[in-house]
Amino acid sequence: MKELILLLANEKATIALGHRLAYLCKQCVILYLYGDLGAGKTTFCRGFLQGLGYQGHVKSPTYTLVEPYLLTPHPVYHLDLYRLTDPEELEFMGIRDYFNWQAICLVEWPNKGEGMLTYADLELYLLYDNNGRQARLVALSTYGEMVLEQLS
Ligand code: ADP
Ligand code: MG
Repeated sequence: MKELILLLANEKATIALGHRLAYLCKQCVILYLYGDLGAGKTTFCRGFLQGLGYQGHVKSPTYTLVEPYLLTPHPVYHLDLYRLTDPEELEFMGIRDYFNWQAICLVEWPNKGEGMLTYADLELYLLYDNNGRQARLVALSTYGEMVLEQLS
């Protein structure tokens, strides 16, 4: 399955989608998150991290650009590149350490890091839809397709 559209009626539904995806992403995965400010990208990441058993506070990496969560078996790197002015800066941030074969990367505003990021397994597009959100998931790898298959 290459694409899946879901309606998320409220914040709880966004969190729940994060939970379910975290559960399915037992291998490492690279997820790109698209959507306007306030669309729910960070909310989704909160659900994802909670789904992996993380119980602490999930803050938005808007200013730090990256928040690492050194969970086992896979560390999670939550990136928000909204404030990145030049993709080259990612090199100095040590981006290569994040996009390794055993990490999970959740990337908000991946378009800001164009040319410097590894290809994603899955893309999540969040759109405002009345009082809720529409989520469109697109698989870009066979692993991503398998995850969508299981999610549907
Ligand atoms: P982003 O990271 O995309 O800028 P945030 O996750 O920080 O967005 O903020 C999203 C806002 O929208 C939060 O106030 C959250 O409560 C709300 N929200 C998240 N998901 C939904 C949803 N499915 N329906 C309505 N409101 C939502
Ligand atoms: Mg955010």
